[in-house]
Amino acid sequence: MRAIVIAVGSEMLEMNRQDTNTLYITQKLMEKGLLVDMKIIIGDDMQNLAWLVKQACKRTQLVVLTGGLGPTEDDITREAVATALKKELEFREEMVAQIEERFRKRGLEMPEINTRQAFIIKGSEVIPNPRGTAPGLFIDDEQCRVLLLPGPPAEMKPMFDSVLEEKISPLCNYHIYTRSFKFGGVTESGVDSLIAELYTKYKNPKTTILSSPGIIEVHLLGRSRKAMDETRILTDELAEKIKERMKDALITEKDISFEQYIVEELKTRNLTLSVAESCTGGGLGNRITNVPGSSDVFLGGVIAYSNQLKMKLLGVNENTLIKHGAVSKETAKEMANGVRQLTGANIGVAVTGIAGPGGATAKKPKGLVFMHLSAEDMDMGIYQIFPGAREMVKTRTVNYSLNLIREYLWTLDKA
Ligand code: ATP
Ligand code: MG
Repeated sequence: MRAIVIAVGSEMLEMNRQDTNTLYITQKLMEKGLLVDMKIIIGDDMQNLAWLVKQACKRTQLVVLTGGLGPTEDDITREAVATALKKELEFREEMVAQIEERFRKRGLEMPEINTRQAFIIKGSEVIPNPRGTAPGLFIDDEQCRVLLLPGPPAEMKPMFDSVLEEKISPLCNYHIYTRSFKFGGVTESGVDSLIAELYTKYKNPKTTILSSPGIIEVHLLGRSRKAMDETRILTDELAEKIKERMKDALITEKDISFEQYIVEELKTRNLTLSVAESCTGGGLGNRITNVPGSSDVFLGGVIAYSNQLKMKLLGVNENTLIKHGAVSKETAKEMANGVRQLTGANIGVAVTGIAGPGGATAKKPKGLVFMHLSAEDMDMGIYQIFPGAREMVKTRTVNYSLNLIREYLWTLDKA
């Protein structure tokens, strides 16, 4: 079975709104063995959308739409799909009551315009929306199935998940088996040059290398029409070869974030962490505190942007700053030691660098960042000259700092 995924919303044709829903939907469909032929972003125009849905239904067996199910004038997805499928809209009294109830729970009265959301496409099944007012719709139209979901990602995701399990999965005729790896401290081309020789020998599984600043992911997706065993054996075979070759850079095989991995690893070892941040301005602490339960291991941090604060709060030596500068391995080391002393944590991590665009000197280019980890038994310092704009340099710094912690924890395991 093949699918087309459509994001509806004029805002996503502009520069400052990103469509992320189709990324989510596509990934989940692929994992079930469904091929996504196209992803389309379309503005809120009735006629265009009706035309598109009509075409999409001719070409595939599944069309998934997100966005434009709200109550306002510009929410046209219901009408457009009804037109495309030549179906009528039908008013459902009982749905008004449900929508009213949602507003009542929040102590609000339902605006009249929300009754528009009680119109459904005749013959469609209503998909409840536990997190919002716009219900989803599923239409099983023999040749083609059409799924309508609201735009807000937090509403869309659980609704899509339930439909995927109950209605779409049973239609998938492939056995799918996936493996994935996260690597740190390496570049995308670095990973590719190491593993291309391995994965190009396999048509199945399909290998994808994904890069985000400071983390490289490798995904393997095996498919078989015949049997699960067939795809599992092949995929595991390649996965183990990749794992062996990349073992020094492997962060985790689990589907968790880098920071979550670090928090879990610190927890298992009963270690505490604190951070001293200059150029990341709290970004490292922010990422760590995004993990629920991070308080078990994370004591806190100091954002020491000025030299004054580096000296006053972290005990960085004035001479170090004069002699080597704020962006130097010596300063990074004293910051890391300082925050460890200040907080009593087992591990102190410090970052200091030039995020750009200004601040570069003849000897210190934009993107130069020093990172240092200080522990009772060890000091580890690294530096990088990161490419990219300010935000990118900051994100990369955070990921490389997390990677420094990973490398330290590994040295403990090896000892
Ligand atoms: P409602 O109007 O009830 O919130 P809706 O189904 O009409 O729901 P939209 O109005 O299209 O949804 O979008 C609401 C918000 O959801 C948008 O402002 C945007 O932030 C987010 N959104 C919509 N589509 C997408 C998408 N494809 N990817 C990521 N976010 C999206
Ligand atoms: Mg809307």
